[in-house]
Amino acid sequence: MFFVAKFGGSSLANASQFKKVKEIVLADERRRLIVVSALGKRNKEDSKITDLLYLLHAHARYSVPSDNIFNMIKERYLEVKCELGLNCDIDAEFDEIAKRLTKDAAADYIVSRGEYITAKIMAEYLGFTFVDAQDVIAFGYDGLIDQARTSELIDANFRKYGKIVIPGFYGAYPNGAIKLLSRGGSDITGSLAAKAISASMYENWTDVSGILMADPRIVDSPKRIKQITYSELRELAYMGANVLHEETIFPVQESNIPINILNTNDPKNPGTVITQDCDDKSQIITGIAGKKNFTSFTITKSHFCRKITIIRQILQIFEKYKVNVEHIPSSIDSFSIIVSSDEVEKCIYDLVSDIKKEKEVSDVQITDQIALVAVVGRNMATKAGISGKLFAVIGNNEINIKTIAQGLQELNIIVGVDNKDFEKTIKVIYENFVA
Ligand code: ADP
Ligand code: ASP
Ligand code: MG
Repeated sequence: MFFVAKFGGSSLANASQFKKVKEIVLADERRRLIVVSALGKRNKEDSKITDLLYLLHAHARYSVPSDNIFNMIKERYLEVKCELGLNCDIDAEFDEIAKRLTKDAAADYIVSRGEYITAKIMAEYLGFTFVDAQDVIAFGYDGLIDQARTSELIDANFRKYGKIVIPGFYGAYPNGAIKLLSRGGSDITGSLAAKAISASMYENWTDVSGILMADPRIVDSPKRIKQITYSELRELAYMGANVLHEETIFPVQESNIPINILNTNDPKNPGTVITQDCDDKSQIITGIAGKKNFTSFTITKSHFCRKITIIRQILQIFEKYKVNVEHIPSSIDSFSIIVSSDEVEKCIYDLVSDIKKEKEVSDVQITDQIALVAVVGRNMATKAGISGKLFAVIGNNEINIKTIAQGLQELNIIVGVDNKDFEKTIKVIYENFVA
């Protein structure tokens, strides 16, 4: 009966946060495998260490002097170390980084030092053994995590040392070169660790008391989600509820290990529990999330063509430019391909020109500045009239819906609105369905 406890950057911004973490870890003997992110923001205006490290690397790459950024990062670690009265040699760690900070330095190595040094400090502070993610999170040369090998390595170290701290967010290729996970990836490290040691719980400690029914930066004090299924969480996380990385659930789902999202600043709050199934029927919708900045390509086809063929041909063009497709709403004579504007920015002219070359296409219209808002809930499937109420609520508030998507599982309903209506859409849905 062991727990994996992952502490995010927001739980590790300064020495007093480290003290809270120690109290939490030592309060329960089962918390024996700790994963940490790099130091986060101390206040709204502050920078995350990971962002500063990316900046440091960019300066080195273009040979721009970067002493001030380097010293700012080092100072933050020295301050934590000194306030906690520890012995670890921060100067030596930074000397090593300085030595490797050349024009050709690998970004993944430089950026990973944020989690690496945080884990070194945390290990000494807790009296646990430091285990480098470079030695246990195994990537293949295809850039994918080798889960079997990773499990073997983590488990072997856990058995050997009993109480360990692993830095999140990175691993290594078979030749030892560091490879980062995507942003927010320490959540995945924690999940891989929980699977590896067959933990009975994966605790994910952050700065909010669980997953809230809407983004707290948009809705004032949204209600906490007490229980949620892995699938619902994935929909919400993918659609912007970035309290947890959307890939987090895969390793633990296979072994049915529950995830508990908890607040380092309010450890008594039970937070949110994420499991395979969930029998709470008290709320029709589980949560609302959304993302701005999508672009839609509406393709009008000549009436004689066969729809299936033309959709395939157009999708191949998006594939050629490596642009992920989010949704394909369609009507009899046209269909739209909705993609993230960021992904399409660099290739939009070439892509449109390729689409126009298809002989069955008569017109392509581009609409940008679209926001997608998802209403997610396992209980929606059993209840008639939810989408009707949703569209009425949005319409009554003079928000124009540009597109609608609903999967047949009825786990979510997605509406596309103008970017400028994004926050208002989330607020009116929350007010009418939850508050
Ligand atoms: P950590 O540093 O612990 O990894 P993150 O910053 O990655 O924390 O995630 C926590 C943040 O996610 C919260 O501070 C909150 O602003 C944001 N967030 C966005 N949507 C939600 C939501 N639905 N519920 C809770 N938090 C949310
Ligand atoms: N520190 C990394 C980031 O900012 C990883 C994480 O926080 O999970 O993305
Ligand atoms: Mg995070």
